[in-house]
Amino acid sequence: MHEASLAKNIIEIISANTELTNGVRIKRVNLRVGELAGIYYDSLQFYFTEMSKGTSAENAELIFENLPIVGKCRECSNEFPLQNFEINCPKCGLSKFDIISGNEFEIVNIEVE
Ligand SMILES: [Zn+2]
Repeated sequence: MHEASLAKNIIEIISANTELTNGVRIKRVNLRVGELAGIYYDSLQFYFTEMSKGTSAENAELIFENLPIVGKCRECSNEFPLQNFEINCPKCGLSKFDIISGNEFEIVNIEVE
């Protein structure tokens, strides 16, 4: 359901941006998604394909750029990507940190034909 409402949002944003340019066809939608956002790409593409039928975005492809989860060390303020469950600061070795990004979901741009 999460993916269904996201697909709806994307289509609404595209429609709002393309209604003035009649006959335009959307080829690709470039998205940036944080690993913490918990989005299933296949599922989102599926809903998007279904819901975009008959709109300017019909047959458009979603391109996902994966953003890592980034932590900020509470000790030395170093910012580092959290990968493979490695949760120690690479600079000072401590494991006290705050997560500062990884929840992103944004449309980078829309490519038209
Ligand atoms: Zn540190």
